[in-house]
Amino acid sequence: MEALAVWSPAPRLNVTKVERENSRWLVVISGRERACCLLCGVQSRSRHSFYVWTLGDLSAQGIPVTIRVRVGRWRCRNERCDRHIFPERFPGLAGPSARQTDRLAEIVRLFGHGAGGRPSGRLMVRLGMRVSDSTILRRVKHHAEAVELATFEWVDWFNHRRLLEPIGNIPPAEAEARYYEHLNELPMAA
Ligand SMILES: [Zn+2]
Repeated sequence: MEALAVWSPAPRLNVTKVERENSRWLVVISGRERACCLLCGVQSRSRHSFYVWTLGDLSAQGIPVTIRVRVGRWRCRNERCDRHIFPERFPGLAGPSARQTDRLAEIVRLFGHGAGGRPSGRLMVRLGMRVSDSTILRRVKHHAEAVELATFEWVDWFNHRRLLEPIGNIPPAEAEARYYEHLNELPMAA
């Protein structure tokens, strides 16, 4: 079992089989014996069904690796919960409905930033990771947007929501507005 664990693309996953299938490695992972409802968080041991989720991963020995996860669908037994059936999630492996593991997605993004879509695609194929140039470009664009959004949110917090003690526990933008209001009031007071 320990030898199989080396193939695990993320911590705490249950690798049940690794085999060479044509020109790739196939790593089979099975879900856990219980899962927590995505809505209410109550644990369930009542499995409803399974489905198979296939993901690309980093290559091994220059050979592509495909991860095949047997994902359980579970019944929520909490009567007060609106969710009756929910799928198991695999944090650290990949987001729901992703087609690449998080660690491959990160490599794709780094290649894309460094070399651009098409050269990265060729390079990655040589390294045993089959990724199309459109996927690489999409990943780079998605990351750039996420960084832009995070920066915008931080600036918004810094100016509009951060409470500053020296100015009376109000955000800087409010202090500035008050200052200009005050300036406008001065001539009328005079
Ligand atoms: Zn529930």
